[in-house]
Amino acid sequence: MSTVNSYLTVAGLGVDVVYKDIKNLHISVYPPVGRVRVAAPQRTTEDAIRLAVVQRLSWIKCQREQLQNADRQTERRMVSGETHYVWGQRYLLDVSRSSGAYGVETKGNTLWLITPPETDATGRFGALDRWYRRELKAAVPALLEKWQPILGVEADRFVVRRMKTKWGTCVTASRTIWLNPELAKKAPRCLEYIVVHELMHLLERGHGEKFVALMDRFLPDWRARRDELNEAPLGYQEWGEDERA
Ligand SMILES: [Zn+2]
Repeated sequence: MSTVNSYLTVAGLGVDVVYKDIKNLHISVYPPVGRVRVAAPQRTTEDAIRLAVVQRLSWIKCQREQLQNADRQTERRMVSGETHYVWGQRYLLDVSRSSGAYGVETKGNTLWLITPPETDATGRFGALDRWYRRELKAAVPALLEKWQPILGVEADRFVVRRMKTKWGTCVTASRTIWLNPELAKKAPRCLEYIVVHELMHLLERGHGEKFVALMDRFLPDWRARRDELNEAPLGYQEWGEDERA
C-alpha cells in the first residue's frame, strides 16, 4: 500500500500526491466526488506536479463532470430490496408498511420506510432524504462539543446542505460549517473527520503544510478516514441535485 505524501491545492483543486518508484507521473480522478490523485516519481518537485495538474486541468474537469453525471443518472426506484447505507452499514429497503405518518426505522439489516399509501418513488426518496438530514443534524452537536475545546475554536453554526463535489465546507467569514447529508450514509468516523477538517479551517484557511501538520497532530489517521469516505460503496452512489441551504 502506498502512503499519501502530500496534499496540494492547485487551481482550487485539492490534490493528493503519492511519491513512488515509477518513471512517469500519473493523474487519476476517483469517484464519487472526483478526488484528484497524482502518483509521481520520487524527487519530482512540487512545481513540476503543479504544472502537470494545470496542463491537464480540462481533462480533470471533464472526468469530474462525467463522474457526477453518471452518479446522477443512477435513479433510485425506492422499492423493497434496494440497498441503502446508513452510518456505513448496508441495509435492504422495505417499503411494504404504510401509515398516515412518515417514518424510518432500522432493524437488523432492514431499513423500513413507512409512508402514506400510494406515495411514489419521489415521495419516498424525499422522506428518506429528510430522515438522513435529521440523522446528520442529531450527530453533529456531540462532535462539536468534543472537538471545539480540543482545537480551541468554535463554529457559530452548522448547516446541512447538499453539495455536488464536497462533503463539507467552512465559510470562515460567518464561521459556518456546511455538511453534505450524504455523510449520514458513511461511517461515523468519516463524519468526525469532516467536522475536524472544517473546524480546522477556522485555524488555517488553506490546505497547505500548516493545515496538514495540524491535521496530523490532532487526527493522525485523517488520511485513512478520508480515503474511506471517498471510496464508492459497492453498487451504487446517489447524488441528487444541488438544493436549498
Ligand atoms: Zn478543507
